[in-house]
Amino acid sequence: MGRLIVVSNRVPVPDKDGKLPAGGLAVAVHAALKDKGGLWFGWSGKAVEDEDPGAVEHREHGPITYALTDLSTRDVDEYYSGFANRVLWPLFHCRIDLAEYSRRDKDGYFRVNRMFADRLMPLIEPDDVIWIHDYHLIPLAEELRRRGMKNRIGFFLHIPWPPADILFAMPIYDQILRCLASYDLIGFQTDHDMDNFISCLIREGVGKRVRDPAQLEQDPTEARVTAYGREFSTRTFGIGIETQEFADMAARANTSEPVREMERSLAGRDLVIGVDRLDYSKGIPERITAFERFLDLNPDRSGTVTLLQIAPSSRSEVPEYRDMQTTVEALAGHVNGTMGRIDWTPIRYVNQSIPRESLAGLYRAARVGLVTPLRDGMNLVAKEYVAAQDPDDPGVLVLSRFAGAARELQGAVLCNPHDSEQTARAIAWALEMTLDERRARWRVMMDYLLENNIETWCKSYLAALDATKTK
Ligand code: UDP
Repeated sequence: MGRLIVVSNRVPVPDKDGKLPAGGLAVAVHAALKDKGGLWFGWSGKAVEDEDPGAVEHREHGPITYALTDLSTRDVDEYYSGFANRVLWPLFHCRIDLAEYSRRDKDGYFRVNRMFADRLMPLIEPDDVIWIHDYHLIPLAEELRRRGMKNRIGFFLHIPWPPADILFAMPIYDQILRCLASYDLIGFQTDHDMDNFISCLIREGVGKRVRDPAQLEQDPTEARVTAYGREFSTRTFGIGIETQEFADMAARANTSEPVREMERSLAGRDLVIGVDRLDYSKGIPERITAFERFLDLNPDRSGTVTLLQIAPSSRSEVPEYRDMQTTVEALAGHVNGTMGRIDWTPIRYVNQSIPRESLAGLYRAARVGLVTPLRDGMNLVAKEYVAAQDPDDPGVLVLSRFAGAARELQGAVLCNPHDSEQTARAIAWALEMTLDERRARWRVMMDYLLENNIETWCKSYLAALDATKTK
C-alpha cells in the first residue's frame, strides 16, 4: 500500500521536542501519516525577497517527511493575500461585494500552484495517495495531471461552496470549476455545499450526477459526477474535533486561574460567550447588535448577564480586516456606554488570542455559547463549546443556521444572524431554558460529536479516497 501525501497551504510542523501545533486537524492527519508513512508538503510560512524561493527543505520526523517551500513576497501578495484571501474567501462566503478580483493576483495564484506541482512531482511514487486541502490549492490536481500524474488525488474544501449565482460573479469561475474535475474525490463540509457545487456544474452545462438505477432515492451526502469528460466522486465529511480530549481539558481548566478570575469578576452574572477570529464572515457586529436588542427587550436582564467576545485579529494585511477592528470596538463601546452601569459592563471585548486550555474552561463557565457567523464552512467553536459543557449542568448553544455545524448539531437553538430580533429572542430563551431541556439538547449533540470526531473524519475521508480506485 502506498504512502499518504498531504498538501496544504501551511504545514503544522512539530517543534524541536516533537510537539504538534494545537488543533485537532493537525493531530488526526499526523496520525494517518504515521500509520501509512508519508509526506506533508506546503508553504513554510516564510516570504523571501528573491523571486526564486530556493530549494524545498526536507525535515524528517519518524515515518513522516515535511517538505517545505518558501514563497517570494510577490507570491505571498498575489497568491495568498490576493486571490485566495481577497477573491476566493469572500466569494465562497457569499460576499461578492468584498471580492477584489485582479488578473495579476489570479496569475499569481495559478503560478504558485504550478510551482507547487513542479516541486511535488519528483517526491511522489506510483502508489502514493494524495490529499490536497482547501481553497488555496484548487488547481493543484490539474497541474499534477498535466505533468503525467496518475495517482489518486483527493481534495477537501474546508470553507463553504457558494450558490451558482455567487460563483458565476467571479471572472474565472469556469477555470476554477474545471480544475476540480481533475480530482478523484471532492469532500465538502455539508450537503448544502455539495449540492451547490453540483448545481454549478449543471447550470454551466458541463456536468451532471451519474444516476445509479439501483439507487431510487438520491443520497444528499454522496454522488458520482461526470464533468469535463471525467468521472469522480463527491461526498460530505463534516470536520470534527477531538471531542473527548476537549471535554477532559474543559473539566480540568474549570479550576484554572483564568477561569476562576473570570468567575470572580462575573459575581454570579450569567456569561454568554463568543469566540471568533476577527473576520467579516463571523457576524460579530450583527451579534453585538443582537445582544443590545436582547437587553432592550429584557430590561429585567440589565446587570445580570455579560457577553464575553474573544476576537483575535487575523489577516491584518487585508484592509477589510483592519476596518473590522474599528467597527467592533465602536459597537461594543456604544453598547457599554449606553447600557452599562457603574458596576456592570455588558460586553467585554478581548482582541487577543486565548490559549485553548483557557478557552475550554471559559466555554464551560458560559451559560450560552453564541456562535452566529453569517456563513461558515463548519465552525469548530460551536463543537468545542458543546464538548466543554458540564454534563450535569450544560449550557445552551445558540447557532447560526448558516454555519456548517447547524447541519449536524440537532440540539442547538438555531437563529438567523441577520435578524437581530430573532437572535435576541434565542439568547433570552437559552438563558431561561430548564435544566431538563438543556441536558436533553446537550446529550444529542455530545453523542453525535463523540461518534463523529476528527479521527473518524480523517479515516472516513481516506477510506472514501481509497475506494475511488475500485469505481
Ligand atoms: N481559537 C483559539 N484561540 C482564540 C480564538 C480561537 O485557540 O483566541 C481556536 C478555536 O478554539 C477553534 C479555532 O481557533 O479551534 C477556530 O476555528 P473555527 O472553525 O471556529 O473558525 P476558523 O477560524 O477556522 O474560521
